[in-house]
Amino acid sequence: MLKISPATLRNSIQCIMTLFCVWVGYRFYFFYEFMIGNSDVAVIKPGAVEGFLPISALLSFKRLLTEGIYDEVHPAGLTIFIAVLVMSLLVRKGFCGYLCPVGFISNILNRIGLTTKRIITVKGKIEFALLIPKYIAMTFFVYAVFVKMSIKDVNAFIHSGYNFTAEAKMLHFFSHLSIISTLLIAAIVVLSIFIPYFWCRFLCPYGALLGIISKASPVAIKRNEDLCINCGKCTKACPGGIQVEVKDTINSAECVGCTQCIGSCPVDNCLTLTDRLSRRQIPWQTIAIGAVFILLLYYATAVFTNHWNSPMPVEMLRNYYLNL
Ligand code: SF4
Ligand code: SF4
Ligand code: SF4
Repeated sequence: MLKISPATLRNSIQCIMTLFCVWVGYRFYFFYEFMIGNSDVAVIKPGAVEGFLPISALLSFKRLLTEGIYDEVHPAGLTIFIAVLVMSLLVRKGFCGYLCPVGFISNILNRIGLTTKRIITVKGKIEFALLIPKYIAMTFFVYAVFVKMSIKDVNAFIHSGYNFTAEAKMLHFFSHLSIISTLLIAAIVVLSIFIPYFWCRFLCPYGALLGIISKASPVAIKRNEDLCINCGKCTKACPGGIQVEVKDTINSAECVGCTQCIGSCPVDNCLTLTDRLSRRQIPWQTIAIGAVFILLLYYATAVFTNHWNSPMPVEMLRNYYLNL
C-alpha cells in the first residue's frame, strides 16, 4: 500500500487547491473583461470565486436561518461557507489545515523562514495578546450580522450594488493595489516569514470563527504520555504554535488539524488522531479526506439542486459592473 506522510498529503492537497484558486481567479478575470466589453469571448462566471466573500456569506447565512431563503446573489459562496462550517464541526479546522490557499502561502513563507534560521517563536503573554485581535474582529462581524443588523438590513445589503459586484471589487483591489495596501501585504508577508503563520495565527477572523466551532469537533490529536520521549519535534512542527509535547488531548481553537505533529513524531503511536466520543484511534488521514469529501459533497449537492450558479440576469450584472 502507498505510504504517504502527513506533510506530503498536506502539501499536495494545498497545492492543488491553490492552483485551482489561481485558475478560478484567471477565469473570473476573463468573465469580468467580457462583462465590461473589453473582450468578445463569452466566459461563464466561476462560482468558486464567491468562496472569497465570507462576510457576504455570513449575511446570507443569517437570511437562510431566519427566512429560509438560499442566497440567489452568491449561492456558491453560501454553499462553500456552510461546507466549511460543517467541516470545522466534524473534522476540526481541516479547511485551514488542508484547503485554504492562504494557508498554503503561509506554509511556503514558513519554509523560507526556516532556511534563514531566524524564526521568532511567539509564546506566553505576547502570544496571548497577539491572539486577541482576530477574536475581536470575528466577534465584531458575528455581532454586527446576527445582533445589530435586522433581516431588513441583511436583505438590503444582499440586494445592494455593493454585494452584486463584490468579486469584481476584490479583483480591482488586487489588480490596482494602493501603496498602503501594498505596504500592508508586504509587511504581513515579511512577518509570516519570520513568525510562522503570522496572518493565520494572529489576524484571520475567519480562522478564529472556525477555531471556535472546531472545539466541538469529535476528532482531536492525542498524546500518549507513556510513549513520549519529550523530544519537542511535534511542537516545532505545529503551525498553530501549540505546545503539543505537554498536552494530553489537543482541543485548542488554534489547532488547524494539519496532523503535522503526528508526522514529525519519532515514536510510533505516541501521537494519534482520536475520536473523542468513542476514545478510539482513527486514521490520521481522516481530517484531510473528510475536509475534501465535505467540500465536494456540498458542491455536488448545490450543482444538482441548482444552488451553485446565480439566476441573476447577466445584463443586470453587466450594468452594475459597468458602473463600478
Ligand atoms: S486562518 Fe484564515 S487564511 Fe489561514 S488558513 Fe484559515 S481561513 Fe485561511
Ligand atoms: S496540534 Fe498537530 S494537528 Fe493541531 S495544528 Fe498543531 S501540528 Fe497541526
Ligand atoms: S514528537 Fe512525539 S515523542 Fe517527541 S515530544 Fe512530541 S509527542 Fe513526544
